[in-house]
Amino acid sequence: MEKTYECSICKRKNVKLWRPYMDTKPLICAVCAEERQSLEMYDERAWKKVSGIYKGKLTGTKLPLPKWKINEEGNIPSYKGPGPYGEPIEMIDNIRVNIEEFPNIASLKSICMVPAIADGEGCFYADNFVPEQLKKWWRELPTR
Ligand SMILES: [Zn+2]
Repeated sequence: MEKTYECSICKRKNVKLWRPYMDTKPLICAVCAEERQSLEMYDERAWKKVSGIYKGKLTGTKLPLPKWKINEEGNIPSYKGPGPYGEPIEMIDNIRVNIEEFPNIASLKSICMVPAIADGEGCFYADNFVPEQLKKWWRELPTR
């Protein structure tokens, strides 16, 4: 793995790191990301059971998402808001943060960060093209 696999902010090593969706740096760890999460809104749904399946109808109201904490697998509740029982609709490994320390991207208050998985040639795998064993390697890195 790259020597520089460390958080660009706190310099933590040997933990899961995320990179901007369209960029290779900065890298950010879970602890720094949790402190910098951007305020996101979700579309409220009214859940109704139809033939045994819950369907969520948009109410037109936007609500602020609660603050997330990254779990051991590197996941957070999706930005779609809660499901019928208040549980996350799904868990995702993309996070949105506001990294004011990096002025070149600070104009975007909500940067999408994806798991930073190096390809061994000085670059990172595109989000959907990470080999399964490297995904596993990343998931097994300590989150914090
Ligand atoms: Zn950090």
